[in-house]
Amino acid sequence: MKEITNFANYLAVNQDTSFSESILKVNLPTIFQTLVDRGILAPTTPVDSVRCKECDLDHLEQVIEVNHRYFTKCEYSEDASLSEVQLDELNGYRFSLSALLAWIAETLVTQTDIKQLNDATWGIGKKATQNIYFIKSIDQKEAQNEVKKINTENNIFLWLGVNSPVGYSTTELVSIQEVIKISSKGLEVQAIKVKSKKAKPNQKDIVLDKDIVITNNFYLLLNLENGAFNYKVKTLPQTYRIVRYLYDQRKYGKAYTSKELSEALQLDNPKVIPTRIKELNNKCEEHKVKSIVLTYPNNTWALNPDLTCFN
Ligand SMILES: [Zn+2]
Repeated sequence: MKEITNFANYLAVNQDTSFSESILKVNLPTIFQTLVDRGILAPTTPVDSVRCKECDLDHLEQVIEVNHRYFTKCEYSEDASLSEVQLDELNGYRFSLSALLAWIAETLVTQTDIKQLNDATWGIGKKATQNIYFIKSIDQKEAQNEVKKINTENNIFLWLGVNSPVGYSTTELVSIQEVIKISSKGLEVQAIKVKSKKAKPNQKDIVLDKDIVITNNFYLLLNLENGAFNYKVKTLPQTYRIVRYLYDQRKYGKAYTSKELSEALQLDNPKVIPTRIKELNNKCEEHKVKSIVLTYPNNTWALNPDLTCFN
């Protein structure tokens, strides 16, 4: 798995970058040859500097040719001698994204149509009615931003990073590390498995807005998309009880003071009310949904009448 992660990290760098064969063989020991055979690693002109072997500093050193043999001399240590460089250290390779995408398309796509759409995103083609894209990023936020730029429906986005185990990333985002595997046959592209990690409300939950649910086990579900929520945010029992009360009272058009609320909910300290409400609204702001509770004159509180639960 480490090797596939290394591979993904290499793919995220600038495509003109040339890497020395010897270093690639260290980081990609079992897949190096397969990548060369498939043209995913393409030879470049020989590299003219390699990592210094004389000192502990991780630096590159210029290669000198003497009688058809190659050497480096460390510029940082005074008593350094010439150290010989083998030919495979000078062989350079760069990663070819087009070769990679063509290979992926052989397995994952029935209608291949590889084209670069912007700096980070490529179309690969279609499988039945599904559009398959590739995002050249190892950062999940960045990848999600790229997803938003695409205006087709029913999409799968392959990307280079790993989907975070917590939080609710869009289900269309599939890590390339889940799709490319090392097997006895060498390197293999496997069918995409889409696991739904999205939250769904149940009947006991309070549906405040089409984009906001508070569950009876104290989670906020936010940002509805294609029938499921993108974010599941932990909140507190007190917060749930405040919202529950304001929700039950919402049709009376009354705003409540902290004292009234704390008495109704049998809380000892009325000061927790504004604190809980502020925390709650901050979470809404963070995930770009409506505020749940609004402040009215004389420090009173009521549910936001713009929420769809008022319809
Ligand atoms: Zn050195």
